Amino acid sequence: MRKIGIDLGTCNSLVFIPKKGVVLQEPSVVAVALEENRILAVGEEAKEMIGRTPDTIRVYRPLKDGVIADFRVTQAMLKYFIDKVSGFWKFFKPEMMIGVPAGITSTERRAVIEAALNAGAKQAYLAKEPILAAIGAGIPINSCSGNMIVDIGGGTSEVAVISLGGIVTCQSLRIAGDKLDVAISDYIKKKYNLAVGEQTAEEIKIKIGTALPEKEEKKIEIRGRDLISGLPRTIKISSNETAEAFSEILSEIIHVIKQVLRETPPELSADIIDKGMIISGGGALLKNIAERISQETGVPCFLAEDPLLCVAKGTGVVLENLEVYKKSIMLKR
Ligand code: ADP
Ligand code: MG
Repeated sequence: MRKIGIDLGTCNSLVFIPKKGVVLQEPSVVAVALEENRILAVGEEAKEMIGRTPDTIRVYRPLKDGVIADFRVTQAMLKYFIDKVSGFWKFFKPEMMIGVPAGITSTERRAVIEAALNAGAKQAYLAKEPILAAIGAGIPINSCSGNMIVDIGGGTSEVAVISLGGIVTCQSLRIAGDKLDVAISDYIKKKYNLAVGEQTAEEIKIKIGTALPEKEEKKIEIRGRDLISGLPRTIKISSNETAEAFSEILSEIIHVIKQVLRETPPELSADIIDKGMIISGGGALLKNIAERISQETGVPCFLAEDPLLCVAKGTGVVLENLEVYKKSIMLKR
């Protein structure tokens, strides 16, 4: 029986095949030619088109806010990813394990399952992303001790306390990495009268972004369009300016982390203070994020290994031990 695990993220989609590992990692982006209503590109190729398209092409991020905004496009994207990795077992329909945000509704769950079945799955199982992220980060989720995971993705952040294989308290918010990009471009617009694209903003975040000001500042040169003259212009921006730009968004995420801590039963709180919380997702790669969260919450904070891969790896562990997990973590339709 062929099995594949899928992390259908708001920003990146990953496919995991047991014994092979992560075989695909591409942006969750689809480009559509509007007139013929035809899919032009998916993944990396489509992401490069963002901000560079004529009127006749539209680039979608169908899961942008953590839910399926456009069913047809999501399904096409899923099919493209599955076809791409299924070269060597084209004639078998695989069993699929898909990670979905903890907060999704039953209608949204059905939409994901239907998209998977239409895209060629024989069976589709769903599990909550924070649990998969925790499993992928190597947290022993079935132990009776409390564990806290904070997954900061592109469109959504999920904060959960897990004990005995289940979620005890959790919150999802639609504030994550994408909002940091917006914060950078707003900051540059205000301070330098310069418009920069989404991709440039993300590049700044990845290259020099930091959650706390640093003693040794890094600087990079960036290009944009002057808002007054309308002409291209180059400026230099520093890492400490990014810390300033990010501050409010990070506070909102930390606010929710604190809320979850407050709702956590005392025995589990004690476990979490002892062990600390684990951060996963692409947002964990932001410099000094663990330091900032731990400064503000007073709880130690650690980065998961390969934070971008946690959910995908978690699907793999579950697929390899379906019997162990079938009862506890699988979501009903
Ligand atoms: P999702 O699960 O929602 O698809 P991911 O976990 O793949 O999201 O994380 C994507 C987010 O992580 C994006 O906002 C991306 O810009 C951000 N990201 C990736 N690498 C870095 C980095 N080195 N520093 C800061 N943010 C990063
Ligand atoms: Mg994710």
